[in-house]
Amino acid sequence: MITDRSSFDGLVESYTPGTVFIDGAWHDAPRRLPATAKVAGDVLVDVGAADVDTMSTAIDAATDAFPAWRATPPARRARLLHDMATRLEADADRWMALEAVHAGKPLADARIDIMASVGVLRWYAGFADRIDGRLVASAEAQHRYVRREPLGVCAAIVPWNFPLLLMLWKVGPALAAGNTIVVKPASATPFTALLFAELASAAGLPPGVLNVVPGNGGEVGMSLVEHPSVAKVSFTGSTEIGKQVARVAADGIKRVTLELGGKSPNIILDDADLDRAIAGTAGGVFGHAGQKCAARTRCIVTESIADEVVERLAKAATSLRIGDVLDPDTQLGPVIDESARRRILEYCESASAEGAKKVCGGQAAAVQGPFVEATVFDHASNDMAFAREEIFGPVLAVIRVKDEAEAVAVANDSDYGLAATLWTRDVGRAHRVAAAIEAGTVSVNTPAVVGIETPFGGYKQSGYGRELGSEGLDAYLQSKSVIVDLT
Ligand code: NAD
Ligand code: MN
Repeated sequence: MITDRSSFDGLVESYTPGTVFIDGAWHDAPRRLPATAKVAGDVLVDVGAADVDTMSTAIDAATDAFPAWRATPPARRARLLHDMATRLEADADRWMALEAVHAGKPLADARIDIMASVGVLRWYAGFADRIDGRLVASAEAQHRYVRREPLGVCAAIVPWNFPLLLMLWKVGPALAAGNTIVVKPASATPFTALLFAELASAAGLPPGVLNVVPGNGGEVGMSLVEHPSVAKVSFTGSTEIGKQVARVAADGIKRVTLELGGKSPNIILDDADLDRAIAGTAGGVFGHAGQKCAARTRCIVTESIADEVVERLAKAATSLRIGDVLDPDTQLGPVIDESARRRILEYCESASAEGAKKVCGGQAAAVQGPFVEATVFDHASNDMAFAREEIFGPVLAVIRVKDEAEAVAVANDSDYGLAATLWTRDVGRAHRVAAAIEAGTVSVNTPAVVGIETPFGGYKQSGYGRELGSEGLDAYLQSKSVIVDLT
């Protein structure tokens, strides 16, 4: 199957193959990387890929652009971010079709990504000219105040599952706060990040403020983390690579934000509204074929309702429509590639071998491309590998517990702590459990764990620092205290 390109006609053609975006212009890169259509595997375009020298040129451009950008009137910075949002929104249909094909996600999911991208730009545009310091109560004849200043050159390292959106979680606040930035997109999905650089430039963003440079993670990505001119690294990706990034950044005492993996719980207590809980649980784990850091992959359910929950979850899982990502009715898309599919299916085999009971799925879906059926295992226990490790595929472990206290204990028995969802109709219980859960976000009676206005990030090995919300802006600012003697 060759991808139908008419729905993003012109976007691919607007890009000069083999180039990267540095200092406001397209530069021929020393290497090339195919940006593929994820189901068929055909090449959309060969994008430019950096070597270490190219990356260094980009960092120099961001370094040179910083003094003028930090001095740019805040209202002008706000205006530029708003203009980027407006351009993206005006062309949202083409962008979502391209992102669907490029990242291998159903159009309905890609639509949410693009509209959230517009929203993130607008939210941080609103902050750009509202970054106040404060006047501090001062002893005797002193005048003291706190200024909030940008950090300098920031590095954004981005994973493949939300290529444009997760880049903008970083670019929006970094630019609003007056920093310049170099973005290293994931090698599997480098293209929409590059196209966005062009959009930003067309909106009037000065050269060097935003540079987008694909390249090999271990070599070129790491050179970005190591570079002495980089003040801050914001990394989203696996816990394994995040640890390496933090170690290397420590040598330069760089500010670091880490958004890492998860094994997030979904707790259904015996008083839950099951109609809502079943639909929400399925959405929370099977959306983007489970390839979400905050996928709620452990369904912790009170024994008294477990049989009904499992039966209904299986029905929800098997009724998801698998198909072409550009078909607006598709609900379950492919996983990122064949090797991911193999890894996911191995986890399914290990789940059975460890004694969990397969209720549905666990196989490659019978269509072309790396699809995996939506999978539910019952009678999992929290010590089985498939219930502890991040699978990054559409696989749900159902863990039966006797009561609320055990549900909380099992939920918290994890190295990770990114997000959690709770289903209950008891308001006291809702707040009690929300307080007891060790996770950066807890949602109650909704699968939605990300909101632009609320901080997002991890407890424990899911990372540190927060993105989104006002905390997401704070991560790109530092405080300076000024103490003036008035005598
Ligand atoms: P990954 O860790 O393999 O790669 C992430 C990025 O780091 C890519 O751009 C990659 O090229 C780069 N990279 C790889 N090695 C590097 C190195 N040594 N130095 C510097 N950069 C390097 O992750 P992935 O496979 O792209 O994405 C999936 C992972 O991301 C999952 O673990 C998922 O949970 C996590 N994730 C977390 C969040 C969150 O907000 N917490 C969001 C999305 C994804
Ligand atoms: Mn990876």
